[in-house]
Order: sequence, then C-alpha cells, then structure tokens
Amino acid sequence: MPELPEITVIANQMNKTLKGKRIAKSEVFQPRILNVPVAEFVKNVMGKTVESVTSKGKWLFVKLKPAFFLLINLGMGAELLYLTPKLKAPEKVQFRLTFSDKSRVAIHFWWFGYVHLVAEKDLPSHKMTATLGIEPTSGEFTFHNFRDILRSRKTTVKTSLLEQKNIAGIGNVYVQDILFRARLHPNRKLQTLSESEIKALYSVIKTVLNKSIELGGLAYELDFYGRKGKFDQDKFLVGYKTGKPCPECGAKIEKIKTGSTSSYICPKCQV
Ligand SMILES: [Zn+2]
Repeated sequence: MPELPEITVIANQMNKTLKGKRIAKSEVFQPRILNVPVAEFVKNVMGKTVESVTSKGKWLFVKLKPAFFLLINLGMGAELLYLTPKLKAPEKVQFRLTFSDKSRVAIHFWWFGYVHLVAEKDLPSHKMTATLGIEPTSGEFTFHNFRDILRSRKTTVKTSLLEQKNIAGIGNVYVQDILFRARLHPNRKLQTLSESEIKALYSVIKTVLNKSIELGGLAYELDFYGRKGKFDQDKFLVGYKTGKPCPECGAKIEKIKTGSTSSYICPKCQV
C-alpha cells in the first residue's frame, strides 16, 4: 500500500513529466472510481492543461487549467504509469488519459481507488482531502503542532499516527520502524509519553519518511515510470522481520496484533 514516500515520489515525477500537457481524451472503465457521472467527467477534463501535480498524505492533486483538480487516491495499491512506446500498459486499466502529444497516463488499481474531479472553488468541501491532517514532510509539521496533536488525543501512539486526520501519509508499513526507532511500544497510551519521547518520535518520523523518498519508495511499488523503489526488505529494522534479531539488542522480533493491524516490535527495546 503506497504511503507518503511513494505518493511524494509519483507526484514529483508527474509534475515534471505532465506539466503543460493538454488532455485530448479520457477513458473510464470503472465508473465507481469517479465522484461524478462518466459523461460529466469526460466533458469537463477535455482540453484542460496540467498545471501542476502535488500530493498530501496519500492523495495526488493534479491541478488542471482552468480551475479544476483531479484528486487521485491509489487505495491499497495501484500502478499509475506514464505510457510511452517503451513502457507497456498493464493489461487491465480502470482509467486512462491521453494527451495531445499522444503520451498517456493509465491507472490499474489492485483493489479500489479514486479519481475525483473537483472544481477549484469546491476543493475545501471535498471531504476526503479537506479533513487530512498535517503532512510530516511539510513546513506545518513543527514539534509544537505535533505535540499539540498528540496531547489532544486519548488513544495509543500507533493509532494516532495512522489517523489521517491527525497526520497525513503514515500507514502500517512505515509506522513499524518509526515506533522502533523512537523506542515506543505501539500500544503506549499517548498520555504516558514524556516530552523527550515525543521529541524522539517527531524526529524519527521525518528521518524514516525522507530516507524512503530519497530511495524512491518501497521496492514492491512502481513509480510513474514503472521502476521499483529501492526501499527494500533490507532497509527495514523490525518491520516484517518476525523471528529475526533486533538490530539494537539481539532479542527476537515479534509480530503482535494491535487493534485491526499487525505490529512488528522488539519486546525489549520498545516499551
Ligand atoms: Zn531490541
């Protein structure tokens, strides 16, 4: 499942590649991904030009000129690919855009996702994106803001990090090593965190996510050009390493249930 690093990488690549391209054709093979009827979608995107592509949390914001946004969420995972003669399209795609220069963008959702068309003036009322919290790679993510968020919640540390309305972009993959590096058990109650523990957590969130962005994201996800990221199994410290020794103390890494998600922890280091 793509999280902030993968989406950031794709957004940067899309921005570089698509800026200035004019949409000549749009094809929707799975109408459920849209928020409007297919005919309305097709009519409204036709002839519009890509102005920029940015991201927030797990959402891509494709700004169209004039005055619309395509909001894309890849759900549990997807190939969102730039199609050139060199790069073959996936066999099954749910969505495809063709630009006036004949280049294309196609999306194959593994499970389900969204391509929403929203007029610029209606962006603040698009609930799924308007309720997103602070992005940990943005300037808004200051220690004070982060501490205020944690101090205002009464849940566990892991649950609060995964809630997209608090902090946008962390999912069940990166949260594992974030909690390990901060030496926190996923079930620690927020009220029990000391100021220095919150500081450590704040700093490792940025370290882990930025490191993955630098490496092009996870190795099992494709970028916009169909290349795999370089953040592979070896880069994880405890995530997905059940039974392996903890890199700090050598204790066996355990897989435990935490609410509806699984967690990988070192039972000695994370308290
Ligand atoms: Zn350990």
